[in-house]
Amino acid sequence: MSKTDANTTLQELKNLVDKFEQERGWKKHHTPKNVAISLCIEAAELLEHFQWDEYQRNDPDGIADELADVILNCLNFANQMDIDITAAFMSKFERVQKKYPVELFNPANDNSEEYFRIKKRYRQQGDKKEDKK
Ligand SMILES: [Mg+2]
Repeated sequence: MSKTDANTTLQELKNLVDKFEQERGWKKHHTPKNVAISLCIEAAELLEHFQWDEYQRNDPDGIADELADVILNCLNFANQMDIDITAAFMSKFERVQKKYPVELFNPANDNSEEYFRIKKRYRQQGDKKEDKK
């Protein structure tokens, strides 16, 4: 049976990446900094598929391939940093849910103003935090 999202855990994917790295002796080269750089480069390669054109899906296999590169680097980074992806994701997701309370948004209406008002408020709070450093 081939692996799909429905039958594969994140831990299984992390183990695959870990085994791949170990078998090749790449862990000494794949420091968290180097993997984070690779992650950003792969994210840029994903973005290249959308450069110049308004959301064109003319290369779905290429897009999926670049997304896989991003995920591979995320898994590798999580392994290097000993991050439990699900725990980190759930912690972040709970904060995002509080940041954008469902009561403020109605899918039947355009809530762009509210969305951008909240985004702006958080950005200003972020700027204040940066000023204190
Ligand atoms: Mg790539």
